[in-house]
Amino acid sequence: MTKKALITGITGQDGAYLAQLLLGKGYEVHGLVRRSSTSEVDLSRLQWLGVDKDVNIVDGNLLDLSGLIRAVQGVMPDEFYNLAAQSFVASSWQQPILTAQVTGMAVTNVLEAIRIAKPDTRFYQASSSEMYGLVQQPIQSENTSFYPRSPYAVAKLYGHWLTVNYRESFGLHASSGILFNHESPLRGVEFVTRKVTRGVARIKVGMERELRLGNISAQRDWGHARDYVRAMWLMLQQDVPDDYVVATGRTSTVRKMCEIAFSHVGLDIDEHLVIDPAFFRPAEVEILLGDPTKAKTNLEWEATVTLEEMIREMVDADIARLSGR
Ligand code: NDP
Ligand code: GDP
Repeated sequence: MTKKALITGITGQDGAYLAQLLLGKGYEVHGLVRRSSTSEVDLSRLQWLGVDKDVNIVDGNLLDLSGLIRAVQGVMPDEFYNLAAQSFVASSWQQPILTAQVTGMAVTNVLEAIRIAKPDTRFYQASSSEMYGLVQQPIQSENTSFYPRSPYAVAKLYGHWLTVNYRESFGLHASSGILFNHESPLRGVEFVTRKVTRGVARIKVGMERELRLGNISAQRDWGHARDYVRAMWLMLQQDVPDDYVVATGRTSTVRKMCEIAFSHVGLDIDEHLVIDPAFFRPAEVEILLGDPTKAKTNLEWEATVTLEEMIREMVDADIARLSGR
C-alpha cells in the first residue's frame, strides 16, 4: 500500500527536502499551502529539487482548524509533518503575537485535527534547539532544561510540550524533533548562513562591496537540511514515539562560518565584513551544541555533511543563481 504524507510548510526549506525524500521512498506527498493574493503558490524550492510536479497542494492555513480538519479528512495521511511556522527568530520580536499564534498555538490546531479526523496518523513536530536558549548545560541533550530567549523559542516550547502532552494524554504517535540549525542552498535569505553565502557571491561577481552582520561571536551547531529531514522520517518509522535531538555535535562561530565562505572564492573577509548594530538581537543565544547520541543509537542517524562542505555548496549555488544557471 502506498503511504501518504501530509506536510505543512512544504514551500519552505525543510518541506522541499522532506518532500523529495518521501517521494523517493514511494510516498504520495501532499502539502498544505496558504494562499496569497499577490502571487502564485511559490514552488521554487520544490522546483529546485525537481519535485514540484509530484506533490499535491492542499489549500490551508495553520491558523484555521476547520481547514486542517478538512485537509486531514481529505488526505487521510499515514504521516503528518508539521513544519510550518513563523521561523525567523529576529522577526519574532517584531511580530510576537503572530509568532505565538502560528509557531505555538497552531500546533493545537494540528494535533486537534489529527485527534478528531484520524488519530492513528503518525505526527512529527518541528521543535528547535532555540528552546535551549540561555543554555543550562554545555552540551544539550533531550535531558537538558530549556530556557527560551525569544518569542519564537517560547512559542516552539509550547508546541513541543503540547506534542508530548498529546502523546501522553491520547496515545497519539507524536514525536518532537529538537533540531539544531540546518541549512542548504534553499535556506531563507534572512538566516545568517544564506545571508553570508549570497552576500559573498554578490561581492565575488561585483554587485556589492560589503556584508553587514550582527553578533559574529555567536556559535551554532550547523548541519545540512537534507540530513535532518532523514531524521524526521526515521522518527516516524519507530514503533514508539519519542523526542530526539538532531545535531552534528560540533559548533562554530558565525565568523568562522563566514571565513569558510570568503576563502572559498578567494576573498579576504576583513576587506568586506562590516559589523552593524542593527543586526544585534534584544536577547541572544550565544552558543548551541547538540548531543545526537540518542538519535544515533535509536535511529541509526548521523550527520554526513560538514560545515565546510555545506557552506561551499551554498556559495557555489548562489554564484550559479547570479549567473542565471
Ligand atoms: P521556512 O521558514 O523555510 O518554512 C516555513 C514554512 O511555513 C513555509 O512553507 C511557510 O509558508 C509556512 N507557513 C508559515 N506560516 C504559515 C501558516 N500560517 N499556515 C501555513 N503555512 C505557514 O522554515 P524551515 O524549512 O527552515 O524550517 C521548518 C520548520 O523547522 C519550522 O517550523 C522551523 O521553525 C523549524 N526549525 C528549523 C530549523 C532550521 O535550522 N531550519 C531548526 C529548528 C527548527 P510560505 O511559503 O507561505 O511562507
Ligand atoms: P537562529 O539561530 O535560528 O537565530 O538562526 P540565524 O541564522 O538567524 O542566526 C544565527 C546566529 O547568527 C544568531 O546568533 C544571530 O545573532 C547571528 N547573526 C549575526 N549576524 C546576523 C545577521 O546579520 N543575520 C542573522 N540572521 N543572524 C545573524
